[in-house]
Amino acid sequence: MKRSSTGKKSTTTPARTDRYQIRQHDRLSFWVKSRQGSGEYLVDLTSLKGNGVCTCPHFRMRLEPKIRDDKNQRRCKHIMSVREYLADMVILEAIKHNEDRGAA
Ligand SMILES: [Zn+2]
Repeated sequence: MKRSSTGKKSTTTPARTDRYQIRQHDRLSFWVKSRQGSGEYLVDLTSLKGNGVCTCPHFRMRLEPKIRDDKNQRRCKHIMSVREYLADMVILEAIKHNEDRGAA
């Protein structure tokens, strides 16, 4: 007898959310899984005065040279995702912290 192990979630996956798999490398640098293929890109959020850098080809070939030229911030989708991920972590931590102090 076989049991299906899909107990909790319904298996209808609606429109894929625009999320990457992210894992922390250092305090402010993260590995982001590439969606095509099996590679991972390293995103460092502190580099270039807080613009952040990514090891993906798009950033290195196209964005990074422009930052050096015109000094505007330019971020690839990996950098954006990591920033969002980090914001989520901070926010969740703050919520948890508040709850630990006893929600009013
Ligand atoms: Zn990138």
